[in-house]
Amino acid sequence: MSQSSITLIQGAQVYAPQSRGQQDVMIVGDRIVAIAPQLPVPNIACRVIDGRGKWLVPGFVDALTHITGGGGEGGFHTRTPEMQLSDAILAGVTTVTGVLGTDAITRSHQNLIAKARALKTEGLNVVCHTGSYHLPAKSLMASIEDDLLFIPEFIGVGEVAISDHRSSQPDATQLAQLAAQTRVAGMLSGKRGVVSIHVGDAPSLLQPLWDAVASHDVTLSQFYPTHINRNATLLLAGFEHVKRGGYIDFTASTTDAILAGGEVRASEAVMRGLSAGIPESHMSMSTDGHASLPVFDDAGNLVALTVGEMASLHTEWVYGVQTLGITPEKLLRTLTQTPAEILGLADTGTIAEGSFADVLLLDADSLDIQTVICRGQWMMHDGVLLKLGTFEVK
Ligand code: ZN
Repeated sequence: MSQSSITLIQGAQVYAPQSRGQQDVMIVGDRIVAIAPQLPVPNIACRVIDGRGKWLVPGFVDALTHITGGGGEGGFHTRTPEMQLSDAILAGVTTVTGVLGTDAITRSHQNLIAKARALKTEGLNVVCHTGSYHLPAKSLMASIEDDLLFIPEFIGVGEVAISDHRSSQPDATQLAQLAAQTRVAGMLSGKRGVVSIHVGDAPSLLQPLWDAVASHDVTLSQFYPTHINRNATLLLAGFEHVKRGGYIDFTASTTDAILAGGEVRASEAVMRGLSAGIPESHMSMSTDGHASLPVFDDAGNLVALTVGEMASLHTEWVYGVQTLGITPEKLLRTLTQTPAEILGLADTGTIAEGSFADVLLLDADSLDIQTVICRGQWMMHDGVLLKLGTFEVK
């Protein structure tokens, strides 16, 4: 189907992510143009899809993906491979946020932007953060301000590491200066200027951010800390962080060993948040896709490395809805509208007239992803991938 085509999806249960009941949805080109209980079939060439028995939801918005690969903490052979288009499409992810990570030495912003543009050409929505784990923040151009103003893909800085042995141990003033720099660059470029924060397992938890805000003229909502479900203590600090005016993000990718070590799975973290009065507009889930996930044996020896999977977002959503009994639209918001709002992406994350046609059709019983439309382009239909990355083979 070409970009200028017209599609009418009839009779699907629409979660925008708010429940809107049974609706017809019309897509023209890359946008949703009409949503109503019964839309007339236009008198011109139009693809009509039967949406009965399916849920129609926004494509997932992933706030953290190592699109060029990440890891590397165990030597060069532990650098993880870069993502491919099908990693996102099979996972229902239509927007990715590319970041570097611990390694901004063998990985570069040049490579990050090149990969972002490759994925955009292949049909995905892609934004990126400049900087990396470390301060002072590395940039592609002369400064992070230049990057936000002149590189369209850059919308913020990160993931900057705090409370982690791999961080550059930034103090309150450094964090406040980074937030102020990013805020001004965001204002001048019309972007949100978010500072993505990697939170490690050190006992200082989120205190470095609270100190930065207490002693300087910056706001907590500028920071977007992730991995808040790393352990139950950090999770409680995360809830306190929201009560102080901030946002928090949970990592969906995990392993049995990591969960056994005390991590709270992302859907469970959302459930605990909702019980603690944390609104779904202030907590999100992201994949941390293509990060390295170490697997240890009982004696604590590193025995394998796996890679964070983008499919984890969908897995957590289904688990949360089917096993934990979380209201579908509340949990859905944490992987669609909420991250889009926090990142300042106005055109995606919701099913709304005028939004990008970033749309998933799910089987109403299994919640399996059947169809993926990204910016009006058909990427997968009835479980069959229609579009592969340039070097992916069928
Ligand atoms: Zn991280």
